[in-house]
Amino acid sequence: MENNWIVAKFGGSSVRDAQAMLRCCQIIENNPKIKVVVISATQNTTNQLETVSKTAQVGDGMGLELVVNEIINKHIYIARELFTSPAVLLELEVLCGELKALGALILKDRLCSPATMDELNSLGERMSSLLFADLLRLRIPKKIVQLLDARKIIKTNSDFQKAEPQIELIAKNCESQILPTINDETLFVTQGFIGSDSEDCTTTLGREGSDYSATLIGEGVSASLVQIWTDVTGIASCDPRLVDEVKFIKTISYDEATALASLGAKVLFPSTLLPTKRKNIPVFVGSSLYPDRGGTLITQEHDCAFSLKAISLLENKDGAFVSFVGTHIDKKNDLKNILLSYLGADCFQFTKVNIHSITFKIDQSKLEKSLAIKKAHLALSKFI
Ligand code: ADP
Ligand code: ASP
Ligand code: MG
Repeated sequence: MENNWIVAKFGGSSVRDAQAMLRCCQIIENNPKIKVVVISATQNTTNQLETVSKTAQVGDGMGLELVVNEIINKHIYIARELFTSPAVLLELEVLCGELKALGALILKDRLCSPATMDELNSLGERMSSLLFADLLRLRIPKKIVQLLDARKIIKTNSDFQKAEPQIELIAKNCESQILPTINDETLFVTQGFIGSDSEDCTTTLGREGSDYSATLIGEGVSASLVQIWTDVTGIASCDPRLVDEVKFIKTISYDEATALASLGAKVLFPSTLLPTKRKNIPVFVGSSLYPDRGGTLITQEHDCAFSLKAISLLENKDGAFVSFVGTHIDKKNDLKNILLSYLGADCFQFTKVNIHSITFKIDQSKLEKSLAIKKAHLALSKFI
């Protein structure tokens, strides 16, 4: 029999405060197929945890205290607004104590190893998931809400801060810890981003890696769908923060969406679609603010002929690059010159082409990158 289980992941902006968490709760309540919920740290908390490490390493005790208090107060404020139960408040206090102790340790040693950074970073997801699970218990009393420690499921190698998941171990853990109790009464809540190595040391999958956690668990439980709830109504023709007139994409293939993510589109962590592609599980991307507005469905279906769907901007030490993403891009005659004629060959330099993308380097001495991306989107509009 086909499974009909959904794994739903809620990103940092979707759980930024009590109101946002309540919206996510409503999405879960409205869809009984959601069996596993993956939670990111509340918005900006992972950045703040990095500041904890930086201030402590340079011996800035005041700065450290300030940011530690900001993190603690933010979570206590959310807990108050959500009427978090006394037992969970005590658990939150323990995590706050861990945060203070780690900060103090880094301050004392003036050193934060990658392993310590992962331990520190794990606190963001552990705090948010703790509060979110309690909220679900309160709001959906007919469900048994089980808070799972993702470190017991997502086994990885010991490459701290960018750990590689161990697929077979994850499958085994899903089989023993989730599958036996997947039923209509139980709702699992776990953390995105974090895992653990063979010594049970905390690891993380890399910044923004919660999307990947969701698809790894989706693969492990053979879900019928993975939902990525974020702050945009799906994948658009360009980052809506860079261009006003974007077009949201109804369907896109795993390979195209992976190309887009790898070439700079922040909407998905680049490895997100590997597990779902292996098991042919569709992935939905939508907005937790406007869940009824639909979103993008990512599947293995792809266009048979040439198509362009979106552009992305990537910045690294070599410069700023704009990529046009689609399918059979390398088959289209003279595409490079056609695009350059729209873009202006004086400001863009062809870099590379393959089946799913064509990339140009922006000459930032002649054209600012924000204007370059607008120009590129205009060029894309001739094809979509
Ligand atoms: P979350 O906290 O939910 O993981 P992210 O900030 O990581 O959310 O990802 C969502 C953001 O991705 C959007 O707010 C948007 O600015 C950005 N983004 C970049 N490229 C695209 C794109 N092509 N389509 C939609 N959003 C994009
Ligand atoms: N909280 C982590 C980060 O901000 C992981 C995630 O949100 O995907 O990088
Ligand atoms: Mg993200």
